Amino acid sequence: MCGIVGYIGKQKAVSILLEGLKRLEYRGYDSAGLAIQQDGKLCISRKTGRVEQLVKETAKLHYTGTAGISHTRWATHGGVTEANAHPHLSSDGKLVLVHNGVIENFAAIKHFLQGKDYTFRSETDTEVLCNLIAYHYAKEPESNAQSRFLESVRKTLLHIEGTYGIAVMCVDRPNEIVAARKGSPLLLGVGDGEYLLASDASALISHTRNVVYLKDGELVHVTPETFAITTLDQADVPPVVDRITWSIADAELNGFAHFMEKEIFEQPAALENAMRGRFSADGSTANFGGLNLAATDFRQIDRFVFCSCGTAWHACLVAEHLIERFARVPVEVDYASEFRYRNAPLDRDALFFFISQSGETIDTLAAMREAKRKGYKVMAICNVVGSSIAREADGGIYQHAGPEIGVASTKAFTSQLLISALFALYVARLRDMSFSDGVNYVQGLKAAPELVRKTLEQAPHIKEIAQRYAQYHDCLFLGRLSLFPIALEGALKLKEISYIHAEGYPAAEMKHGPIALVNEQCPSVFFVPKGELFNKIVSSMQEIKARKGKIIAIVTEGCELPDGLADEVIPIPDCHEAILPIIATVPVQLLSYYIAVARHCDVDKPRNLAKSVTVE
Ligand code: GLU
Repeated sequence: MCGIVGYIGKQKAVSILLEGLKRLEYRGYDSAGLAIQQDGKLCISRKTGRVEQLVKETAKLHYTGTAGISHTRWATHGGVTEANAHPHLSSDGKLVLVHNGVIENFAAIKHFLQGKDYTFRSETDTEVLCNLIAYHYAKEPESNAQSRFLESVRKTLLHIEGTYGIAVMCVDRPNEIVAARKGSPLLLGVGDGEYLLASDASALISHTRNVVYLKDGELVHVTPETFAITTLDQADVPPVVDRITWSIADAELNGFAHFMEKEIFEQPAALENAMRGRFSADGSTANFGGLNLAATDFRQIDRFVFCSCGTAWHACLVAEHLIERFARVPVEVDYASEFRYRNAPLDRDALFFFISQSGETIDTLAAMREAKRKGYKVMAICNVVGSSIAREADGGIYQHAGPEIGVASTKAFTSQLLISALFALYVARLRDMSFSDGVNYVQGLKAAPELVRKTLEQAPHIKEIAQRYAQYHDCLFLGRLSLFPIALEGALKLKEISYIHAEGYPAAEMKHGPIALVNEQCPSVFFVPKGELFNKIVSSMQEIKARKGKIIAIVTEGCELPDGLADEVIPIPDCHEAILPIIATVPVQLLSYYIAVARHCDVDKPRNLAKSVTVE
């Protein structure tokens, strides 16, 4: 959450910062601001609302400075006001700073600084950072002009509890930016005679593909000519420059109305990418390059624990179903935010998986660190290469889904489902699954991109249905077995982007409570795949119909429902059981999307939410 962009070089900073902020707006859109070093001054502009407001504001100001920092905020401490917007200036006017994260001990530091006559203008936790840097800066001997700024940031960070990605400028050092991170992501873009700082690569890729991923506890000191990375205890860090493989076009709308729509339609390609190179030569099982664990070790594992947050937690539930169903190994699923505090009793030989699109979700990262502290091996499934979770895990599987910018996850989710299905196959083939069942399963997985493409052809039909259901206030999503997590996901998608109250339930559980909500005003979306539970699900639908509830049925092609039972039918193609959750997800993504559009909601930037949740 929250996006930081910094620039230092030969070009005017302002347009580069604003372009970067627009690309990072998915991370927070409460307010935006920037600071430019110009004519020996720190010039600051801040506006509540979207980056567009800041663009309008700065257009009048004609900034020409070639060094600057900027921020798009997702408020944690203090309301959405201009005074709370970043950048924050120290009360002596010397230091200016942007921050992503939460300073947990801000109250004690604020109290200390107020005793030293530093004043505060905002309600944020962030403001203590710039005043504490100013305090240390004032104490450093002036003879230390070269290192005074950097050392005052370093000394400050030694007193900070919590998380931060920061970029700082000092009025006395017009050609320098100092940045640092702990718990919040920060990258340095290495250009030709220019450097950029950003919370993620999409903000800098139009300028350079060469990036250094800063690690927790590292500071970088940047000038237009060079940069140097050190740790909090002053050790030099040799930089590792990585190359970003995706292009700017991947982070643009390319004719779609919203990123969410674009990303829904990118799913066939994302699934191809998740599978590429991951089948064995004999076509009966999966291969993974990065798990760093031998097949013999996998055979020893008697329990997997999958841990995550939000949509990725639903992917964990699907992984549980597939691994238990096909590999017959018990799986436990936990919310990352709960796991880290509840000290769960664990099997000796459990193996952990942590799923996070961004690889920066702070609750997931903290849960992973807790599992590591307990001596467990931890694996990551992440989309963003080089992200904190990916780097700190003992091994893992990259999704290669391309950048996901819509706040509501779509292609990253189905790609996580595909990887879960691949992993279930891998474990199953190490145990009891036969060669021919393995081959059949592989064929099933390979069909996924084409079957998703076919399901996407339902988009116009689903759009029509959405018009009829856009004005309801409540909705149930009901599915069984591997489609119960998809019912949860459908409900989450609908509520997060259209603000309709929705609940996901196992279809047969509905009669133990949620059926009390059912009337003409509360429609139900049923997943009705072919298979042994088909008739049971039809009975649940009858129970809803008897109470005048409207029904949208997502049904396997060729399966006949009793006449008049469903008000709307969305057919999905028949498929292998392992990819059924993927195929069934597509109609509920489209339904939520079109309902949100019909309600004139801001689909890519839903109220109160932001992507890449880097605060607890
Ligand atoms: N805690 C800071 C604030 O509320 C930064 C939040 C962010 O990461 O955007 O202003």
